[in-house]
Amino acid sequence: MDQQITLSPFTRIKRSSDVIRLGFGTASVHLNLSYEKPIFDALDMLLEGTTKADLINNLTEKYSHVVADHVLELLNKGKHIVQQSFFSNENRYSRNKTYYHLIGGDDTAEEKIQSSHVCIIGCGGIGNLISMGLAGLGIRKLTFIDDDNIEFSNLSRQFAFSESDVELHKASVLSREVRKRNSNVSVNPILTKIDCPKDLSTIIPDDVDLIILSADKPENIVFWTNDFCVKNKIAFINVGYVEDWVSFGPFFIPDQTSCYRCGQLIAKNEGLDLGGLKIVEKINSRYQVPSSPSTNTISAGMALNDIILYLGGISFPVSANTKQFYLPNTFELKSISISRNPDCEVCGKESTSE
Ligand SMILES: [Zn+2]
Repeated sequence: MDQQITLSPFTRIKRSSDVIRLGFGTASVHLNLSYEKPIFDALDMLLEGTTKADLINNLTEKYSHVVADHVLELLNKGKHIVQQSFFSNENRYSRNKTYYHLIGGDDTAEEKIQSSHVCIIGCGGIGNLISMGLAGLGIRKLTFIDDDNIEFSNLSRQFAFSESDVELHKASVLSREVRKRNSNVSVNPILTKIDCPKDLSTIIPDDVDLIILSADKPENIVFWTNDFCVKNKIAFINVGYVEDWVSFGPFFIPDQTSCYRCGQLIAKNEGLDLGGLKIVEKINSRYQVPSSPSTNTISAGMALNDIILYLGGISFPVSANTKQFYLPNTFELKSISISRNPDCEVCGKESTSE
């Protein structure tokens, strides 16, 4: 039996003097005014609920094959047709579902996201925001790795924490807050410091689908996490900011994309004498990143969108094979392309994965 179809909840219509506009954003399609009657007939049938066959037959009988095909093509292009059972206002995830549908996700996107286990290393501002977002989407499990305590200076941007949480462990409080947001999410706080690459193999659970790194200490943690993910075939994204620039990526997908070591992403110190090295070390060891709720929010939001694309199997993440930068003070986007490097010491053909 043909399935009942209806109009997508995000469909809107405007008729101006020369065009009919159906939907906005990615959903936007334009129709010539000569299609006014057929499109309104089609929309009326969809509002009432119909089948694809009935819709085509009706439009073909009243107008022509060509008109019916064109109207159907535009409705499909803007994702305006959905199954009758698609949307329920009572479902807590209903708005996310329409979003997945609009950006090209199929019926399995929600289930894929909700069956995932994501591990977040670093429970600061970005970890706070991404975990709350994933909890909102109904993620199955979140593992938090952080041994830091909450400080007053964190409250400017780490929105899951309150004044009464100061001095408590970040990973524990974040777990508590995630559970408050969605009690269906399983949380796993690990209050351990990562001191060496081996620590990752000891503490990261086996069934993790994606690791998000939003910590910049110890100094080499991005390389350790990258190497662990390449070796264990786990997807990985580094999310943060470089001073006032938002930065994330490259999104590593095992056997498909470049890893963090495929390109030269971190500047090295070269040609310094002992005196120079001492000064460099002195300066760099007192470094404090300038941190603002705005950069935290933008970075977390941009990366989270890529995470949704990946976990939902919707499309390739935008930051795959690139390091993405966003400059909030000029609204500029910059990206550095990082192709898969066959000679990469970690993911290249010659690298040994014991
Ligand atoms: Zn590589």
